[in-house]
Amino acid sequence: MPIRAAVMTAPRAPIELWDLDDPSIDEGGILLETVASEVCGTDVHLFNGRLEGVPYPIVPGHVSVGRIIEMRGVSHDAEGEPLAVGDTVTFYDVHEVCNACYHCTVVQQPNRCPHRRVYGITYSANDGPFGGWAERIYLKPGVRVVKLPQGVPPDDVIGGGCGLFTGFAAVERSGLQMGDTVVVQGSGPVGLSAAAFAALRGAGRVVVVGAPKSRLELAQLLGADTALSIEEWSPLEREQAVRALTGGRGADVIIEASGNPAAFTEGLDMLRDGGTYVIGGHYTDTGTVTVNPHVHVNRRHANILGQWGTDFRHIVRALAMLAKHHERLPFNRVIGGRYKLEDAAQALEDVAELRVTKAIIAPHG
Ligand SMILES: [Zn+2]
Ligand SMILES: [Zn+2]
Repeated sequence: MPIRAAVMTAPRAPIELWDLDDPSIDEGGILLETVASEVCGTDVHLFNGRLEGVPYPIVPGHVSVGRIIEMRGVSHDAEGEPLAVGDTVTFYDVHEVCNACYHCTVVQQPNRCPHRRVYGITYSANDGPFGGWAERIYLKPGVRVVKLPQGVPPDDVIGGGCGLFTGFAAVERSGLQMGDTVVVQGSGPVGLSAAAFAALRGAGRVVVVGAPKSRLELAQLLGADTALSIEEWSPLEREQAVRALTGGRGADVIIEASGNPAAFTEGLDMLRDGGTYVIGGHYTDTGTVTVNPHVHVNRRHANILGQWGTDFRHIVRALAMLAKHHERLPFNRVIGGRYKLEDAAQALEDVAELRVTKAIIAPHG
């Protein structure tokens, strides 16, 4: 039976519904029936042609949840849990890293391996069902799979989507210590996740700077103590508010998840001396800002870090946290709209226009 998929044929071209051939399952391969995939900011960048080297036409959808309908020679997931047909899993979109280049072997950063393949981004639709905006997804041998833990419904995973894992990774990278004051810039999926995991990791206070109001309410639901609306507070007032909360020192940790270059200087202005700043929201080039190396970095003794994507461990550990703290992490509430494949264009537009925080594509309803 052909696989129906929503295809981006070229940047800014209308999204088309294609029928893809059912793949033959290689030894080590898994065929999933898509439960839900997501529409994230990266998909908006893909639609606008803002990522390099993308082999249009593509089936978007890099983070997805699916049900195993067929597999060959696979018995367990990466945690050692037995896998069976009917199980609900998610998977790490990055795969086929070369294990031979400098990034893979010397510095253990396969997320920068130049040979890596990524579901929903680096495959042509002509290669097969390698994206989540399709009825089925073929996981090639070697793709890392993890079963959703008991008690974690698919909506709580896909409601956070890739932002769930990126936010988790940014918090891990920040080295956040118990009691720290953390500022999260941005209240999209990455920011919401960063706020939630910062709170769970033991932040003394979590401040989220963002908009609109509905997203700030979600941030508070997920663990933020203070929400500063960029629609109501000027940059200077926001900095003053953070200083007022920290005895004038500034935040211990700042996680940027806004994708707005102006957030960088604003964040540096509200960072305490010796504080740590993680940039996790700039997946595409949105422009340049001016930074004073003396004032912003050197004199401040600042640690400034970038977080590019995620590793598989972030997925496994974020899922473990979802399982344990299920009541505190209702990421299903972030879902603003559920769309069929034929409505993918609408989903994309609703995300681009910030009408919904997380749009999910549910090919089977
Ligand atoms: Zn490599
Ligand atoms: Zn994404």
